[in-house]
Order: sequence, then structure tokens, then C-alpha cells
Amino acid sequence: MTSEAREATVAVMVEPGAPFELRSVPMPEPAEGEVLVEVVQSNVCGSDLHLWRGEMAPGFPRDVILGHEMAGRVVATGPGAERDSAGRALAPGDPVAYRYYESCGHCPTCAKGLGYQCAGSLASVLRPASKPPYLVGGFASHYLVGRGQARFRIPEGLDASVAAGANCALAQVVQGFTQAGLRSGESVAVQGCGGLGLYAIALARSLGAGLVIAVDRVPERLDLARRFGAHEVVSASELAEPKERTKAVRALTGGYGADVVVEVVGKAAVIPEGLRMLARGGRYLEMGSIVPRDRAEIDASMLVGGNQSILGVSLYPDRALMEALDFLHSTTAPVDELVGAVYPLERVGEAMEAADALARQGVAVGRVGIRPGSGG
Ligand SMILES: [Zn+2]
Ligand SMILES: [Zn+2]
Repeated sequence: MTSEAREATVAVMVEPGAPFELRSVPMPEPAEGEVLVEVVQSNVCGSDLHLWRGEMAPGFPRDVILGHEMAGRVVATGPGAERDSAGRALAPGDPVAYRYYESCGHCPTCAKGLGYQCAGSLASVLRPASKPPYLVGGFASHYLVGRGQARFRIPEGLDASVAAGANCALAQVVQGFTQAGLRSGESVAVQGCGGLGLYAIALARSLGAGLVIAVDRVPERLDLARRFGAHEVVSASELAEPKERTKAVRALTGGYGADVVVEVVGKAAVIPEGLRMLARGGRYLEMGSIVPRDRAEIDASMLVGGNQSILGVSLYPDRALMEALDFLHSTTAPVDELVGAVYPLERVGEAMEAADALARQGVAVGRVGIRPGSGG
């Protein structure tokens, strides 16, 4: 297949906080196993904000294309890429979601079958924007899906802008519950009802959780949490003290605590209270805190005495992305409401500022997105 346009546009973050640079780059011809896609929607994820604010490490990163929570439409398939990772035909024009990182394939982690967790996977998310294949991030008109990146045709009837959230946010939650071994009938408490939290609530319900409790301080988010399936909500603005909130969660679970507690506030400060919400034998799912040196103090004897575990979860295997898409397709939760304001690629800086302001106010529900095809 020949790609029609000869150039693609990418929005490069030259360094954290600097204005984005729009560059024209050559449109690649997909090689064996590769798929060239037109980006339909790329959301601004919390980690994009951390990188843009320069919170990850001094001066890191430079010369990169942000945006990984995305979905696209196939422009051209390379030889051997005419089927998706589940064996379904994949042709130009098809909407598609794809893993945004690639395992290295030659390290002990990969050898253990845990390639998605390998250091190479993380490194592949932020590749240099000024080297071929150039199309290495979501804030761009096009993206080149590499040979080792799983890709799945988006189920019919599921809008690509909604499917964009499958990558990163939802697939992360799918993998989290898999690692936590959530069983039907168990109780789940979710700290933080932003995008990840709402997905966690809806997914916990569909996995058969017997009781789902949402914890947040914003009333609108708690309303939405109920609509996503939360049986009970705990308002952190009404119960201002952590102690009151843990007491509330314990009361709602018959005094025993929740079997699984999910941290998606994104601040380590909430970990101690989350651990106190756990039942004996409970699993604490730590997915939110990604900024280095964000520390929390915990009472280790409580973990030992309660036979509890803390599970850090980052990135996910192919299966999680496939399941995330199927979930979005079948759920009755109002997942389309997680699509927030959208901006054309030319206004990526404004989009970042808007997402940043919403995140700082803690009121964001819909993800701010870049929709390259929406015009300048
Ligand atoms: Zn590896
Ligand atoms: Zn993300």
C-alpha cells in the first residue's frame, strides 16, 4: 500500500515547558510487520503532564513527542501486517488501537515472559523525535506502529475517540485487577475518581465485585462514580480527616475493610489511609503515583499482621489492551463521557495548559484530547 501524503506533522516537545514545535517529517512506507496509522485521537494523560512540567527528572525528556493514550485509523499495512494481533483482517481505513511501547526481546524480564515490564518497553515510549521513523508519539498527524507492538482492530460501533482511553488508562486498570486477582463477590474501594478511577469502578462491577466504594472529594465525580457503578461513595470533602474516611470504608464493609483498594489519586500521601481501608489478606493496587521521590510512610507491621500486599502496576501485556477494547464495546457505563475537550494538533500547547489547569483543580473528569483531523 502506498501512503498518499508524503509528509506527516508532529508536535515536538523540545524540552519540558517549552512551546511545542510543529515539524513536517517524511511519511514512512511501513516495512514488514509495521502499520502506518492516522491518529484519530490522542489524550493528554497524567504522565504527559508530569513530563511536560519537568517533574520526572531535571531536563528530562528532550526532543520527544508526547501522547500515548491514542487510537487511529489504518493508512497502510506493511508486508505481513494484514491481520491484527488477534488474527482479524486489518486494512486501510480500519480503526485500530495499538500498544504504545515495544519490549526489547533480549533481557531477563523478556525471557520470563514479562516483556511489557522490561526497561526497553519504558524506553520505547519516548524515542527521539528527530530520528527515523519520526512518527513515535501520539501528538502527531500519523504514528508508525512497530513490528513488536500489538494492534487490535477497534470493534464496530465503538468510536475511536472513546477507544483511545483503552490504551494506558483502561488497559492499566485491566492489568491491575488481573495482578490483584480480583474475585467475584469481593469488595473494592477506589481512591480517586478521575478517568482511571471511573474505569476501575465500572470494570470492578463487570468482574463481579460485590461492593464497590468510590472515594473522592469532588461531588460531581462522586455522582459520576455512581453512574459508573459504585454502590457507595465516600466524600473526602465531607470527611476531611483520613481517619474518618477509613472508618467509613470499614463501616461499609461490615467492619472488615475492602479486599482490594485501588490508588489512582496519583499522590503517595493517600497510601497510608488506603492501606488502612484494606481487609486482612487484602491487596493494595498502586497505580497512580508515578512521580519520582513521591514518598509515603507506612506501618510495615500492619502489612505483615494483616497478610496484605502492595502491588505496583505499570504497563500491560497485549491481552489487557484487547480486553479493554472489548470492555469499552460491551459496557453500559457512560464511558463516552470520559472524552473531554478536544483540540487540533496546532493547539497542542493550549490543550496541555487546559489539562494542567483541570488536573491542578482536581475537577477533571473528561480527558483533554488532541484530534489532529479536527482542523487548525
Ligand atoms: Zn526486555
Ligand atoms: Zn498514560
